[in-house]
Amino acid sequence: MPSVPSETIGALAVSESSLDSGTDGTGTGNSHSMTDSVRCDLLADCTAEWLSSMEALRKDLVRSVPAHCALHCFGAALRGQMGQSASKMSLYGMSKETDIIDEFWSHSWHSEPWKKVLCLLFLKNGVAAAVAGTVACLVGCALTIDGSLPNGVPFEGISLWGTALGIFSYLLTLLLWRPWKSVFLDIGCINQEDASAKTQGILSMGGILKQSRTMLVLWDVTWVQRLWCIFEFAAFLKSRGSTMAKTPLIRPILFGACALTIFGFTCMVMFVMIFLFSLGFRAALLPSVGAIFFFILYPAAVTFRDYFWSMDTLAEQLRNFCIANSKCHCCSTGHPDRSVPCDREIVLRCIRRWFGSEKTFEDTVRALLPSLFAEQLGRFGFPYWLLLVATCPMLWSLLDLTVSHWLRGDHFWQFWLGASGGWWLGAHPFAAGLFFYGAKVLRAPARSRLRDVLKNLCVIALNLPVLVLTFGLNEILIIFQMPTYLTAIIAGSIHISLAVTLWFSPFGLRHRSSGTLEQEAPAVATDGMDESAGI
Ligand SMILES: [Zn+2]
Repeated sequence: MPSVPSETIGALAVSESSLDSGTDGTGTGNSHSMTDSVRCDLLADCTAEWLSSMEALRKDLVRSVPAHCALHCFGAALRGQMGQSASKMSLYGMSKETDIIDEFWSHSWHSEPWKKVLCLLFLKNGVAAAVAGTVACLVGCALTIDGSLPNGVPFEGISLWGTALGIFSYLLTLLLWRPWKSVFLDIGCINQEDASAKTQGILSMGGILKQSRTMLVLWDVTWVQRLWCIFEFAAFLKSRGSTMAKTPLIRPILFGACALTIFGFTCMVMFVMIFLFSLGFRAALLPSVGAIFFFILYPAAVTFRDYFWSMDTLAEQLRNFCIANSKCHCCSTGHPDRSVPCDREIVLRCIRRWFGSEKTFEDTVRALLPSLFAEQLGRFGFPYWLLLVATCPMLWSLLDLTVSHWLRGDHFWQFWLGASGGWWLGAHPFAAGLFFYGAKVLRAPARSRLRDVLKNLCVIALNLPVLVLTFGLNEILIIFQMPTYLTAIIAGSIHISLAVTLWFSPFGLRHRSSGTLEQEAPAVATDGMDESAGI
């Protein structure tokens, strides 16, 4: 194990840490003497040697906090709302020394904080919220049948108690659920108030990463531009060696905002649909629903075309990935203290030790990241499970409709019970898949505003067959005068089969074009990693 010269810690104690770019350099060096240059070079070398050894300076510097502490108060730590020393220390006080960290959270402090927090809330609490909401909905339905809750609220003949309780429990669980997975979050697991302790924490980063089971990358365009994010990624890859047994989890921070938007839209659509059902205008239902879908889907088409266009930017960014273009705090402030080595010098030396050369590492990133994106985000750039979590209100409102028919004593409750599962698991994901596909194919901005509007309309038009399938299929099956339960089972099975085919089968839609992340990635150049100089 290489030793760390005490001067390394001492010198870096006054250097700017990229882990907290909110502070500013206060170095007093004015001239760049040869002595400084030699000293810096020596310090950079010693620091790089230690960091690349992937050891912690002390065992107690490998720390983790439960995920719910990191997300406490709507992720106050990630939102930078912990300016007070006491607040920072209270989060640090919740961290504990550990041998194994479940998840290392890698993120850029330059991305929008609320997007990161929303993303983490859905990733960590989304499934629990969906389960809690569904249980609350079932309780609401049972109480409505029981007569404990008044029937016919808010619409005559149709109660929405299940949906109301579901939404309430869902949002409450999303905000207050306490995931216990141990995570490493820089601001919570490195002492931010003591400069020397902070430097020791940074110097232990290699050891911390080595003892992390997996890495969660909260992706946005700034992540790949930050030098220390690149360092974390490089160290994680190195710690896994050529086997790549545990690949990093890449999650765009836009996931949370998209999921919340879909949740809100689903609530609105289902509320209006149930209202139309309560009026009994069955003949008017299709054009009305069509009009609603148009007004709701138009901004969605604009948003998702932008989203897929930004993925092209990402592909371009990865193709041209170059460590020299990354940014760090010391370089952006012009190195006010010439006696402290540049972070870039230290990171580059580590990378050379781990991967042999910068080019080998750059080739690895260019190959690995696109393949991870394609593999982990699925063919539509948004995971199926998250779509189900975001569209729970559809299930709940259809269960309410089932209850209303049950209370009326007609047999259509069987039909709506089948539809609740069939639409939630099948019809809607099928529609969403087609929608995403359309937005992806037509993602490029048009030259004129008129053409852009036409493109958005084309994306929406792709949903028309699904509207016909969802409503028309049920009507067609009713013509055969089969028992209602059989109609429900057949319709539900067809919807789910279509969704599974579209999302998971090799025959599903898969858009490939130059410049996208789904292109075949070259083999990851990790073979030489273990042999390269370093540990
Ligand atoms: Zn620098």
